[in-house]
Amino acid sequence: MTQIRTVVLCSVLSVGAILIGAVSADEISEHAHQLHFSSIVLDTHDDTTQRLFAKDYDLGARNPEGHVDIPRMREGGMNAIFFSIWIDGKIMGPPAIQKALDQIDAVRENVKKHSNDMVLARTAEDVRRAHAQGKIAALMGVEGGHMIGNDIRMVRIYADLGVRYMTLSHFYNDEWADSSTDKPVHNGLTDFGKEVVREMNRQGMMVDISHVSDKTFYDALEVSKAPLIASHSSCRALCNHVRDMSDEMIKALAAKGGVIQINYERSFIDQAYKDAYERETGGVVAHLSEVAKNCNNDEACISREMASMQKKLIAEGKLPTVSWERIVDHIDHAVKLVGADHVGLGSDFDGADMPTGMEDCSKLPKITQALLNKGYSESEIRKILGENTLRVMEQAERVSKEMQGGQ
Ligand SMILES: [Zn+2]
Repeated sequence: MTQIRTVVLCSVLSVGAILIGAVSADEISEHAHQLHFSSIVLDTHDDTTQRLFAKDYDLGARNPEGHVDIPRMREGGMNAIFFSIWIDGKIMGPPAIQKALDQIDAVRENVKKHSNDMVLARTAEDVRRAHAQGKIAALMGVEGGHMIGNDIRMVRIYADLGVRYMTLSHFYNDEWADSSTDKPVHNGLTDFGKEVVREMNRQGMMVDISHVSDKTFYDALEVSKAPLIASHSSCRALCNHVRDMSDEMIKALAAKGGVIQINYERSFIDQAYKDAYERETGGVVAHLSEVAKNCNNDEACISREMASMQKKLIAEGKLPTVSWERIVDHIDHAVKLVGADHVGLGSDFDGADMPTGMEDCSKLPKITQALLNKGYSESEIRKILGENTLRVMEQAERVSKEMQGGQ
């Protein structure tokens, strides 16, 4: 309740700000507040799942660390979330399946435990219904094709359990798809990889091309009957990182109806930060690999250690500060390139290091304010906040029905 009152109080204060001049993006005007809190705000990528295993984390309470929990989602108006099912890409075969199932179960059990606030959503319609009921829609995405253990039946099983997208690879190549951060061995997608994409289409599971190599992206674009998503990638034109998408790729994605959901990770949105981070740690893959070893592959430990190490480097002045406004620069770049129908939000909360001013999901209304300040229309902002992703979900659902014979 206190948090709701704070937001209301902020809005009242910003009405005053409007009267005396332009609202700064750090304040939320009544207009932005009304627009943001009446919209479906859908974030396509959150690594909160790994925290569900930590003893000191409670999804239903405001936690001193991390970026996402129910109180802060309420405060930030984030009412639909894709919980990421992620394990290190070096784990393959049956152990990868086992760990993925552990995480899927943890999400489902936590949603049940907090059923007053949350409900599991499988379709765009489920998300809209949850919103109408004032509940947070919980969805799941499997981050990395290695988690099917090279067994296509797992695509169907994960889909049945509620998984609505799968990222074709993570930081390393899997058995059938090349990653953007590994040495290519498959020349994109193998024939089996293409079969996996078709099976995902059949199951209505969105095909996510974040993390994959450029060739894998173009292969998936050609094979998939439904539009693709880049669940948590930013723009290479503004920060030259292989995890981001080139303008040419964004245009190709949009031409087939897809959406790029902008990632907030500092080293993906700011060139100076990326360069300094690579100097200090050898880059995200080397850094993650070292931390994973020290943590004995414990996912909760990995996300905690990654965050604290970067905090330390910033405190020591070895890494520059990055403002949250860089997120808006990436949204704006993509919109200028392909229009507001093809851009969304994929924060990477709880799995990435957030820029200053976007410390957690409670800060999301600032994005709505910043887009209003830039002259975006209400309808464009609603699309970016969530409607575009819902459109792709609906298209994936339609393709699935067609492929299964219109049942
Ligand atoms: Zn990722």
